[in-house]
Amino acid sequence: MSDQAAFAELVAPAAWRTVDLLSDLHLQADEPATFDAWRGYLQTTPADALFILGDLFEVWIGDDATALPGFEARCAELLREAAARRPVFFMHGNRDFLVGPAFAAQCGLTLLDDPTVLVLHGQRWLLSHGDLLCLEDTDYLKFRAQVRDAAWQRSFLARPIEERRALARSMRTQSEARKATPGMVWADVDTDAAREWLQRAGARTLVHGHTHKPAEHALGDGLRRIVLSDWDAAAHPPRAQVLCLSTTGARRVDVR
Ligand code: MN
Repeated sequence: MSDQAAFAELVAPAAWRTVDLLSDLHLQADEPATFDAWRGYLQTTPADALFILGDLFEVWIGDDATALPGFEARCAELLREAAARRPVFFMHGNRDFLVGPAFAAQCGLTLLDDPTVLVLHGQRWLLSHGDLLCLEDTDYLKFRAQVRDAAWQRSFLARPIEERRALARSMRTQSEARKATPGMVWADVDTDAAREWLQRAGARTLVHGHTHKPAEHALGDGLRRIVLSDWDAAAHPPRAQVLCLSTTGARRVDVR
């Protein structure tokens, strides 16, 4: 995206009263508690639209994974049911960047650009996964450029599914090892970059996930960024939270 390019914009229908934003559920087959919390949430939320801002899945190896009975197929079924009741939007994270148009069509999801401006009740909210703004994480940004490349994705998706699963496992092991490195400091969203995005978007509030550091940060000049919580329903205390936008602003809602 060039510096001058306008961000994607989505104008909410006037009938939407509340919108839920969520991210970083990192759903995976061997963490059933978080899957169950997510299922319960999808079946009970009163929101008029859902915006999933990346890392719904711990890993996504290709949309064809849903053709086999198993975890991906169960996730697709739940999303399809949810999207039949209200619009569900999906933005890619750094884990589930391979979610593709076939999966979106199968589930009735609308894929969103990162970032996207949501215009709700006349207010502009800038939505992002957040990884693009972690400018200090230069190794990751190099990796991101590689795996978002269309040719790289075509060649990865052309491999047999078991080979893709094995590759994803080894990438995850490497990432866990990197996280465990002594002195490892997590990159956070760069304030100047976030301010520049907000100014370009004509918005005052950036909402993002990715860093797993739920907070609200003042960025000066009335600008702010709100960081979504990650989910881990097996943690003590459990984490399962959405950000609910309405005419009265943004409010965190814990999923029970
Ligand atoms: Mn992430």
